Amino acid sequence: MENDNCIFCKILRNEIPAQIIYEDDDLIAFNDINPAAPVHFMIIPRIHIASLMACEKTHQAILGKMLLLAPTLAKEQGCIDGFRTIINTGRVGGQEVFHLHIHIIGSKERLPAMMQKR
Ligand code: AMP
Ligand code: ZN
Repeated sequence: MENDNCIFCKILRNEIPAQIIYEDDDLIAFNDINPAAPVHFMIIPRIHIASLMACEKTHQAILGKMLLLAPTLAKEQGCIDGFRTIINTGRVGGQEVFHLHIHIIGSKERLPAMMQKR
C-alpha cells in the first residue's frame, strides 16, 4: 500500500513535514512546497497509487472522493470564484511525484492560460 521512497508516502507517515490542510481516513491535502499561485495545494489518497494511468476500477470511489473534496477545500482556502485542477500523468504529462495527486490552484485574479494553443 505504501512506497518507501515516495515523497508523498513520507508526508503521510509524518517523516517529512508538510502544511496539511485536511485529512480523513482515505485522503490528505497539503500545500505545495513550491506554489504556482496564492492558493496551491494537493489532494492525495493515503494508498500509494503511482498515477492516474495506474488507476483501476477498484479506485473509482477514491477518485470520486478526491474530486468532490476539491471544491470544498478550494472554497475554504479562499477560492470563492473558481480554481484550476490539474492531474499531471506520466512523463508526457510532466508528472514529477509518482503518487497520484490533484493540484488545486487558485488566485483572486484569473489564472494564466494553462497551455499555449497550437
Ligand atoms: P507533479 O509535477 O504533478 O508531479 O507535481 C508535484 C508537485 O509536488 C510539485 O508542484 C512540487 O512542488 C510538489 N512537491 C514536491 N515535494 C513536496 C513536498 N515535500 N511538500 C509539498 N509539495 C511538494
Ligand atoms: Zn506514495
